Amino acid sequence: MTSTPPLPARFDQKTLDVIGSVLSSNHLFYRRFDGTKSFADEAIEAFRNHLDIDYVATTSSGTASIHTALASLEIDAGMEVVVPPITDVGGLMPAIFQNLIPVFADVDRDSGMVTAETIQAVLTEHTKAVIVMHHSGTPVDLDPILALCNEKNIPVIEDAAQALGATYKGKPCGTLGTLGAFSLNHWKHVTTGEGGFVATRDRALFEKCHHFADKYWDRLNSPDSGKNVKNHRIGLNYRLNELESALALDQLPRLADLVARRKAAGDALRYLLAGLPGVVPQSDPGDSSSSYFLFTFRLADNATREAVLERLLLDASGRWDASRGYQNLLHRYPVVQQKAFFPGGVWPAEVVSGRKYDYNNIQLPNAEFYHDTSICMTLHQGFTHEHVKEIADRVKSALS
Ligand SMILES: *Cc1c(COP(=O)(O)O)cnc(C)c1O
Repeated sequence: MTSTPPLPARFDQKTLDVIGSVLSSNHLFYRRFDGTKSFADEAIEAFRNHLDIDYVATTSSGTASIHTALASLEIDAGMEVVVPPITDVGGLMPAIFQNLIPVFADVDRDSGMVTAETIQAVLTEHTKAVIVMHHSGTPVDLDPILALCNEKNIPVIEDAAQALGATYKGKPCGTLGTLGAFSLNHWKHVTTGEGGFVATRDRALFEKCHHFADKYWDRLNSPDSGKNVKNHRIGLNYRLNELESALALDQLPRLADLVARRKAAGDALRYLLAGLPGVVPQSDPGDSSSSYFLFTFRLADNATREAVLERLLLDASGRWDASRGYQNLLHRYPVVQQKAFFPGGVWPAEVVSGRKYDYNNIQLPNAEFYHDTSICMTLHQGFTHEHVKEIADRVKSALS
């Protein structure tokens, strides 16, 4: 039996030194008023270079990034936003707060992700945005989705919270849609504890993102403390502070190595599993590359999934984890089913829309199927070929 993979430390003396230098600077606010560069300025530059994109606005979380991206689109209340049913709730709740109506698109049975076809099936004259998610860091098949949405003039937000380090047809995930939303929370490849950022090529949207995440204070065009700015929109305080920005600078250079290690394990496991009957491992659309935030695969049916999961966890002794799918189905959450979004039983967006939405009767058969048949694992960067081999052998023996 191979032993627990040693996990390379995420934080080291260099991290401590960086944090120390922030504290010594005696300044934790993201903007300096003496004309010198802040850690935030440097972190933004680092993310822009990494993604090869014009504009990045930092935020305080992935949820804040999605909210900020959505808010920058300035969509009228009561309009619809297409969302995936299998994602973090942070991919859903911002729509509610923006007084928009989330409409769930079904997914592909093998990837668990929305497709151009499933999005098309739920588009209406009220659809004003589409949010797609790169599941497990595996790129969603964007080209057909972008073609569909461009034709209809609908902006696409890429939820790239799991996909920093992933590429779609050679380009970084999160840079192909209208806006890309990233998370830097504790579990993500690059972490600042909590944090996030929005990436875009559109100057006007970037400014709106920047303002929204800073209580709509225009500190871009008026670099003083903003005292003379009269806010003309509402925003929230989604600012990333200097400690977090410095952590981002410390962590980002470690991303490539981390992804390479996980990719070596992930590609090997994918290869071993693909040969097994009824097993469909996550797979990248052509010329694309997963960040392997998670490793997911689906089995032929629920009973097989349960058997494989049991076998995987038997005596695993913490050497790896395995769980049922990634997240629950959002359209089955009680808060969604009951539309209990705000106190008092009134959902303003629905009232404004003049329509009635019923989440109890929506049918998303592929999402249900994927949810009932998939397994989710973390491929630690310390995994050796023995770990991968043993995982594949266990799946194989559970199937026979
Ligand atoms: C992590 C995550 C989020 C939310 O990010 P937070 O920083 O936790 O708010 C949103 N969407 C996806 C797909 C995520 O993985």
